[in-house]
Amino acid sequence: MERCPSCRADVRGKRVCRRCKTDLAPLRNVEARADRHATAARQAFFSGDFRRMRFHAQRSCSLRSTPGALRLLAAAELLTRRFDAALGLWAAYRRFHADAGENR
Ligand SMILES: [Zn+2]
Repeated sequence: MERCPSCRADVRGKRVCRRCKTDLAPLRNVEARADRHATAARQAFFSGDFRRMRFHAQRSCSLRSTPGALRLLAAAELLTRRFDAALGLWAAYRRFHADAGENR
């Protein structure tokens, strides 16, 4: 997390927002859980267990819907032959970039 969810101040590396004093620890814990699930999904990919990859990618994405989490889950959906779900995630990924003013 780079910005405080309450006041948008820069909070990189902080546990409490310096401006509004929001306790960021619960959100940092959610981010850490999302990162652990993303790591587990990548490990499952490399071991060829795509169902387990999808399980962890879904958990990661539900905790923190970043473009990287969307891409990971879309790949897991493709590898488990859930093409409609993969297409929906691709559309969400494209919207994420469109909202950010990017053209990828
Ligand atoms: Zn703040």
